[in-house]
Order: sequence, then structure tokens, then C-alpha cells
Amino acid sequence: MRLFEVQPVAQVFRAIDQQFSPLVHQPEIVSLEWAQGRVLAEAVTAQEDVPGFDRSTVDGYAVRAKETIGASESLPAFFTRVGEVRMGEVPSRALHPGETMYIPTGGMLPQGADAVVMIEQVEEVDDLVNIYRPVAVHENVIFRGEDVHQGEMLLPAGVRLRPQEIGALAAVGIDQVAVVPRLRVAILSTGDEVVPAATPQLRPGQIRDVNAPALAAAVQRDGAEAIVGGIVADDATALLQRCSELLHDADLLLLSGGSSVGTRDHTEQVIASLGEPGIFVHGIALHPGKPAILARCGQKAVVGLPGHPVSALLIYDLFVRRILDRLSGHSSLPWQAQIPARLTRNVASHAGQSDYLRVRLLARSDGWWADPIFGKSGLITTLVKADGLVEIPPEREGLREGEGVAVYPLQ
Ligand code: AMP
Ligand code: MG
Repeated sequence: MRLFEVQPVAQVFRAIDQQFSPLVHQPEIVSLEWAQGRVLAEAVTAQEDVPGFDRSTVDGYAVRAKETIGASESLPAFFTRVGEVRMGEVPSRALHPGETMYIPTGGMLPQGADAVVMIEQVEEVDDLVNIYRPVAVHENVIFRGEDVHQGEMLLPAGVRLRPQEIGALAAVGIDQVAVVPRLRVAILSTGDEVVPAATPQLRPGQIRDVNAPALAAAVQRDGAEAIVGGIVADDATALLQRCSELLHDADLLLLSGGSSVGTRDHTEQVIASLGEPGIFVHGIALHPGKPAILARCGQKAVVGLPGHPVSALLIYDLFVRRILDRLSGHSSLPWQAQIPARLTRNVASHAGQSDYLRVRLLARSDGWWADPIFGKSGLITTLVKADGLVEIPPEREGLREGEGVAVYPLQ
């Protein structure tokens, strides 16, 4: 029997970082509407000031701040009201000494004014306005260019566009951006027993393809494009043929099933013949998911995932995401943030490998608790119940109830 040489998880992470570097593809132009989650290919420079004029942040009265000095409940400052500022319009006139003008939130400050007194702090008597509190220069005003200066770099290249970045782009009048093209990830399932998920009636011994839809969803969640390549039987020639076709148009090929060393497992041999330099990991010291294969063909990545859906998704989350990060040149940060919690019970594990425990997160008065979910790696519903994963490191033979752990959230 052939045996593979398992590598520790940390070593596999390092190997991935060494093997892969960002792919350079022509930027793609997308409208802001569709830019959510995309990565900016080029820095964006603001062509205008935001806001474009001095604006009030409150409903109130525009004044010269120095004319309110010393104003108090017992001795207000007196002003003459000379009209009001209309939203979206330039004020009808400038303010002269002793004058004030009503101004709504967001209205343009009239010339001569340098502050706004909140409506709650004034009393209006006909055209007279009594102000009961002094304001400082610039109080309750956002100045022209205070948010963004014309000519300033608004966003650097490499930023992943969240709603707030989309908002900032809209604020300077940009409606199209150059983004990094999505990585293309081809997905192929293998196994004589695997049939399309929508097959009406299974024959005895057949199973539905769980991995392809689950992996396609993971790929899309991570901002890449999924190319679903179907199912190939356990036949080395057919598998090689299909893999070559798919890899031609993809940046990364994900194969699931047949990654171990059984007699029907051809994945290793096929991946090895896809291109140079080839396989750099076969076997990872972790559970579940040990028989994973990682390879590089030119600049592209090929990953052989174990057939069990839980193992396949775990290997995806731990390693394929990291490859995607390397190939795209930016990181999927949410995955890296961990939630500190305590374990609800004792858990045994194997020394010498990283055991990944599926856990439910429980909110208790003293913080988060991680409640282990047990079950074989063939059981997809164990992941459905899980909020996150906890790594039991190789040097440990288990964890104790109450022990502090870091939970990797499952998105
Ligand atoms: P293998 O990695 O080929 O040894 O497969 C391990 C287990 O995962 C076997 O029980 C397979 O039937 C199962 N399996 C393989 N591919 C899939 C798939 N695409 N969806 C669901 N289960 C699968
Ligand atoms: Mg198989």
C-alpha cells in the first residue's frame, strides 16, 4: 500500500504562501451597483470636494460666532432674522453684523456666517432671534472638503468594496470602477457512485453530489466565479481529460473524491500529470480531511479534496481560501478574526494532528461558550448545526471543559 507523508497544518500554510503569488489579469470595469465585494484594481482619486460647500449639521440659525460670545439664559445675544436658507439652493444674501438666517440641516451656510446655533437654543420673536448660548467658530458646520478633498486619494488599489466604500465613491460622483477580475474556480466531482444532486431516483449504492453545490457556494461567497464541471467516474483517463479542459479556463481547479490511496483513487496520479511543478502536499496532519492534495500547475492551483463533504468544506475553508487570497493578492479578513469562547465539555483528540471540532456558539452571561457537535465527517448536517470550528492543536490530546478556545466562525 502507498502511504502519503502528512504535513502539519502550519507547514501547509507556509507552503501555500511560498507557492502562490497574485495573478495579474486585466481589470474589469463594473458599475457601482455591482461593485459590492469586488476588489479595486486601481487607486481612486477624488475629482471634487465633499461636501462641495459649507453645510449646517443641525436645524438652527447661522451666525458669526463672535457675536454670540457671552450669551446666556439671563442675557441672550440679539439678532435680526433676514430670511431662511432653502435646501439645495444658494442663500439669497450674505449675513451682515447682527444678522442671522434660519438654516435647515444640510443647508448651505450663507456668506459671513461661521457657525450655527441649534434651534433648541434660540427664541424667535417676530424677526428678532434671541440666542441663549454662545457657539464656537465652526460649531455645527461641516466645511467644504472636510469629508474628502479634491485631488486626495480616496481609496487605494486592493481595497475590497464594502457598502461604505461604495458610498464614498458615490459621494465623489463615480459610477464605474476598475476592479480585479474574479478568480475562476472550476469544480469537479469524482466517484462511480456520485450522481447529480437532482437525480430523481437513486439506485442502491448511489449518492447525490453534495460537494459540487457546496463548494460552488463557498467559491461564490469568497468573491470568485464557480465553474461547475460535473461528475467524472473513477477512471484515470476520463478524469485527466476533464481536468485538463477545466484547468485551461480556470485559475484554480477543485476536485473532490478519490484523493486517498485506495485502488479507485486516481486523483493523485491525475493531478501529478496536469503540469509542473506539481504536487507539493499530499496528506495533512489534521482531522477531518487528512488525504488532501495541493498542487501548482504553472501559476494555477489544483486541489484534491477528500470526498466526505465535511472534510471537503473544511479543507476548502482552511487551505483553498488561503490559496484564493494568495492568487488574488488580498485577504478574506472575516475568516481570520476569531471569537474567544470557553468549551462546554471535555473533548478527546489525537495527538500529532490538528483536530477540528465543529461547535455551536452559546451566548451566556459570562460570554461565549463553544459547544462541541460530534459526528462523522460524512455527516453534512454536523456542519449545518455548527457556528464555527475550534482547532485542537497537534501537541494536545484533548481540551478540558471551561478551557479558553478560539472559534473560527463558519460563514
Ligand atoms: P473518496 O474521497 O472518493 O474516498 O470518498 C469518500 C467518501 O465521500 C465516500 O463515501 C464517497 O461516496 C463520498 N463522496 C465522494 N464524493 C462526494 C460528493 N461529491 N458528494 C458527496 N459525497 C461524496
Ligand atoms: Mg471515491
